[in-house]
Amino acid sequence: MAANIERRPHVLVFPFPAQGHMIPLLDLTHTLACHGLSLTVLTTPQNQSLLDPLLHKASTEGLSIQALIIPLPPTEGLPPGCENLAQIPLHLFFLLMHSFKELAHPIEHWFQQQKNSDYGFGPPVCMISDFFLGWTYDTATKLGIPRIVFHPCGAFDAFLHYSLWKYMPGLMESDDDKVHFPELPHPVSFAKHQISSLGQLYKRSDPVSEFIRYSMNLNVKSWGNLINTFNDLEAVYMDHLHRVSGRPVWSVGPLFPPAVFDPKQRRTMIERGKPTTINESVFLQWLDSRGEKSVIYICFGSQACLSNKQVEEMAAGLEATEESFIWVIRDPPSGMPADEYGVLPQGFEDRMEGRGLIIRGWAPQLLILSHPSVGGFLSHCGWNSTLESITLGVPLITWPMAADQYYNARLLVEYLKVGVRFCEGATTVPDRDDWRIAVKRLLAREGEEMKRAEELSKAARIAVQEGGTSYRNIEAFVSEIKKLFLQAS
Ligand code: UDP
Repeated sequence: MAANIERRPHVLVFPFPAQGHMIPLLDLTHTLACHGLSLTVLTTPQNQSLLDPLLHKASTEGLSIQALIIPLPPTEGLPPGCENLAQIPLHLFFLLMHSFKELAHPIEHWFQQQKNSDYGFGPPVCMISDFFLGWTYDTATKLGIPRIVFHPCGAFDAFLHYSLWKYMPGLMESDDDKVHFPELPHPVSFAKHQISSLGQLYKRSDPVSEFIRYSMNLNVKSWGNLINTFNDLEAVYMDHLHRVSGRPVWSVGPLFPPAVFDPKQRRTMIERGKPTTINESVFLQWLDSRGEKSVIYICFGSQACLSNKQVEEMAAGLEATEESFIWVIRDPPSGMPADEYGVLPQGFEDRMEGRGLIIRGWAPQLLILSHPSVGGFLSHCGWNSTLESITLGVPLITWPMAADQYYNARLLVEYLKVGVRFCEGATTVPDRDDWRIAVKRLLAREGEEMKRAEELSKAARIAVQEGGTSYRNIEAFVSEIKKLFLQAS
């Protein structure tokens, strides 16, 4: 890049390496570049390829986005080369989060290089990093720039995390089996096993756990919050977070590629996150041949996989409903016995030929949810799946398993009334009759969920259109960044 090129405000973006965290932050990166910022996205070599679609889009659209790849030093206890949540079992989660701290010095070094160079984007004026990277607040402070927290989850979840870590370990040590969250606009409690995986993994006095607590608590001190949600969905929790943290809270969601809102561009969503394993034209032909809102879609995100017993009950329930379905079945991660997970009952696929599609591997979820034939989604309630379904007007059947999914399921069923409760827990074997009843209820439009889904979908679309709340929040955020740039120049 030429030295005399006119520089724009430059932002360092640091996503946490998990599909559900990276995808929305990369979408936000693209949006910010469209608003005239230069952005550097930091990741490690094993995650480098996840940036390819964004970098490709940036180069075709003439946007200022570049990658910064910093090697992650080996960590005792983590298998070599593990740099993404999808590569590790849950008990190594804290260790993976902790290992990224090793990037603090290389970031500082890179920053100084940018300061001393006449080439490139120049030094960043702020850092946006995932809420699992709270420690970057210290790094940003050392560099004299603000750190903004990116919440890939919703505002309800962000608030529960805020409260959990503020009162940790006390909150998890109450006498009954419940965790009562203080400071919310209405009483909220969850059973202990429903608390996010981070809360479950925390061990008092363990140095890694204490680092995670310290790191999570730095989120509240940060300069501001960008949340992947929209006003009509969670205004009450956003206002509350703003009140208790005293920091700005910008809802900027739902963060999706613009194609989501344009049926003519739907096909471009075939590859999002990872390449899909299906034959696109056969698949779309099949979907086009179904009636409106007649297909149930089943997928448990990028990580969860079902045991054979769970698969057996689900298959039996599906057979009994006589409805059409798309079912994504994921292979277990390495280290788990492949023959104990995801095996369908004998003859099931033959019997379901024409009525159901099984996808083994990565499904084009946005493409599926945006298709008019899809009328319901059985989901583990990861936030991205939740937001995708709501935005595309598809009501949900909930089966939270871990992480923030219990919080999201509560929001969907009790507060937003766009979901039907079905099952809970990663190892629970569901009841085939409950499953059949839930599918029938959602597709037969007996409940209010279908109507609520349509209302919320409309609100989501308005939020991101020019003049909508999320659109205006992005403009307000960019204008703050431009002020920082002017002050630094
Ligand atoms: N996803 C997809 N195809 C799949 C599974 C997941 O496109 O086969 C996408 C999905 O659309 C969502 C993300 O991966 O954007 C999963 O994120 P979520 O927060 O729902 O769940 P997680 O994977 O973090 O548990």
